[in-house]
Amino acid sequence: MDLQNKVLEIHRRLCALYHCPISYFHALDPLSELVSSLLSHRTRNADSGAAFKALRARFPEWAEVAAAPLAEVEAVIARVTWPEQKAPRIQAILRAIEAERGTLSLDFLEGLTVEEARAWLERLPGIGPKTSAAVLSFSTLRRPALPVDSHHHRVAIRTGLIPANLAVGPSHRVLAAQLPSDWDAQHIYDNHEVLMLHGQRCCFHRNPACSRCPLLELCPAGQALHGSGAIPHGLATS
Ligand code: SF4
Repeated sequence: MDLQNKVLEIHRRLCALYHCPISYFHALDPLSELVSSLLSHRTRNADSGAAFKALRARFPEWAEVAAAPLAEVEAVIARVTWPEQKAPRIQAILRAIEAERGTLSLDFLEGLTVEEARAWLERLPGIGPKTSAAVLSFSTLRRPALPVDSHHHRVAIRTGLIPANLAVGPSHRVLAAQLPSDWDAQHIYDNHEVLMLHGQRCCFHRNPACSRCPLLELCPAGQALHGSGAIPHGLATS
């Protein structure tokens, strides 16, 4: 099976397993989605969701977060991982947006192409391809942009969609280019969601459940695991 057909077949099988179309989990405006994404890095959903709500309750306007004493912001988001890093980063990003746009809103991204919008976002301090794609895909913009998290990345490597030495950052462009150019935002979102869910629920970092995986016959790592009992060196990703 060539790569293009393999991508589509993996998508088809995982969509059947996880019931596409997958409902969007947020309906936040793009700036709120950006803050939510920054809070969620390496943090359980329940904790980042609670921190986001606490931030909105304490500071109803994003301008208030930008102007607040750093220690206060850090205390409000204390439930997330690394609040001491995330608080100053959020404030720096909010201030950068206000300085460049004259207002605290990212609604203008709707008028840009996906590539232009991602490039604009990635010029902000600490914003990479995963966050730029998340803002465009998960927010009310609902644009066709593919985020890649660590679960998605692990499944993509093990199934042979990308080489084992391709890091998460550069894998965004490679994995997005493998998807049909006429797919809409929902299809792109579904692709990310099903690969991520598969990493969370079956293709575990340690001890992937290959015997019940619908991708086994397509998956070099799964085949090797069945043959030898161990994920081959280089495919044992995070
Ligand atoms: S066969 Fe195993 S290694 Fe391959 S995707 Fe499925 S669970 Fe992961």
